Amino acid sequence: MGSFDLISSFEVEYAPVNVKKWKSNRTGLEVCLIAKESPSVSGWFALATEIFDDSGCPHTLEHLVFMGSKKYPYKGLLDILGNLAFSTTNAWTATDQTVYTLMTAGWEGFKMLLPAYLDHILHPTLTDEACYTEVYHIDGKGKKKGLFILKCREFNLSLLSLRFWRNKEPFIQSQPIDQRQEDLLRICVP
Ligand SMILES: [Zn+2]
Repeated sequence: MGSFDLISSFEVEYAPVNVKKWKSNRTGLEVCLIAKESPSVSGWFALATEIFDDSGCPHTLEHLVFMGSKKYPYKGLLDILGNLAFSTTNAWTATDQTVYTLMTAGWEGFKMLLPAYLDHILHPTLTDEACYTEVYHIDGKGKKKGLFILKCREFNLSLLSLRFWRNKEPFIQSQPIDQRQEDLLRICVP
């Protein structure tokens, strides 16, 4: 299969499936296939996006990826194409990786969406305009706007987030929780 070497192939005991894994000797890209007859087809695309500060760059990148690619520079294109293929697209960013998901009803839809989806992940346009509308801008009334910043605000003010911050670093742990909350409010509230 081109530059890909088969590095693993095995059956699992708990399900009637075969798992195969290939690795490209040219790029290091790894592909894992779980072959199972099923009405839905799922693809998970994991990229290493580890960062060592709290700037939020990997999560910002995740949002911008869906704003258009070199070949398909249109916001919302994946959603429109996705509706045709009964599909859902999503993504999450963890501390060391960003995972983009694509699920369709059947292989035909997956095959149709895959080139556009991969172009978004591998060749996003990352324009200033997308950054303003999707991530952050200040509107005519001096309010902080942008989907990303609003979602972050919602999360940052949640109990889950405050617990996360408390456990994250001794430095933050030593801060009174309302000080942290105050800082977050200052950053996130319009
Ligand atoms: Zn997000």
